[in-house]
Amino acid sequence: MSVVGAAAGVPFLDLAAVNRGFRREHERAWRALMDHGCFVGGPEVERFEEEFADYCGAARCVGVANGTDALELILRALGIGRGDEVIVQANTFVATVEAICAAGAVPVFVDVLPGTLQMDPSAVAAAVTPRTAGIIAVHLYGQMADVDALGRVARRHGLALVEDAAQAHGARLRGVRAGAAGAAAGFSFYPGKNLGAFGDAGAVVTSDAALADRVRRIADHGRDPDDRRRHDLRGRNSRLDSIQAAVLSAKLRRLDEDNAGRVRAMETYRRLLPPACRVLDEHPDSHPVHHLAVVRSADRDRLAAGLTAGGIGWSVHYPVPCHLQPAYAEFMRDRLPVAEEAADEIISLPMWPTISDEEIVAVCEAAAEALA
Ligand SMILES: *Cc1c(COP(=O)(O)O)cnc(C)c1O
Repeated sequence: MSVVGAAAGVPFLDLAAVNRGFRREHERAWRALMDHGCFVGGPEVERFEEEFADYCGAARCVGVANGTDALELILRALGIGRGDEVIVQANTFVATVEAICAAGAVPVFVDVLPGTLQMDPSAVAAAVTPRTAGIIAVHLYGQMADVDALGRVARRHGLALVEDAAQAHGARLRGVRAGAAGAAAGFSFYPGKNLGAFGDAGAVVTSDAALADRVRRIADHGRDPDDRRRHDLRGRNSRLDSIQAAVLSAKLRRLDEDNAGRVRAMETYRRLLPPACRVLDEHPDSHPVHHLAVVRSADRDRLAAGLTAGGIGWSVHYPVPCHLQPAYAEFMRDRLPVAEEAADEIISLPMWPTISDEEIVAVCEAAAEALA
């Protein structure tokens, strides 16, 4: 996992380092799987679902095929679809918007707060119409959205508050974990996420048992759990593989330690980055898990060129807000100045749990040199 041409550089993400130390457990899981032969929805899935619900402080978890499906299945299970509007921030990974459209609903884009780049609760309140059915709050970059303020808007208007927690496994706000703050949360376990599988995987987390049951039925071809040949719902196939669940169970035990490593790395960045390169604000009651180390610079392109020249990996999450993406142009209503301005200034620096101080120093020195 190294950046092309980076002799002594720092990669954007060292996935081999993230997965180091799990070999024995993963090999044991493979052997167990070949013995019992339940490759989809086996005992590993049931165990991980219990462990992850527990970890999030919620009652139920349903393993699904990926994070995009998790969000779509939540909306469908809530009965949100054709004719409904779902409010979402413009600066998210496009998957959040895909899920709304796949459920048949209409995305209504809103702007974000300038310091944290998280969903702006007053913008959400202003976007509510008689057709609004739900809000998807994205816990962007690993910091939770202001779910208290958003929850008040949701309750006032009778809307479902759904969390997109794909970047926020283990994040907390005022003691509440991502996954336990709304009607339901969608998680992704894509390999690069804070809790990553060995392929695609996802989960729905909720404390609403009826909602969890509906998600499970839809994700398993609309089957009646008491009569597998009866399909009383029009479903689809979005299930969690046993091998992914086994990998996730092993890695879940190290998630808090891994997240603490990310927090330490972010503190080091905050201390060593040049002033022309600002880290985002954190809500004082928030415990983010820094899925990404996103900083802002008025001269982002010069910074990026300097990092590349120094063999430092970087990325931009995301260079074009969703309301300006061609695929979603029909849903664009207003310009969203905060999200649009941020898109031109943000850059994601190398971040993984065991990134070393030396590596962070190298990134910060290259940044200082680029912006001097
Ligand atoms: C990764 C991600 C998703 C989608 O997850 P997949 O498992 O790749 O489908 C959704 N929303 C956000 C914010 C993400 O970062």
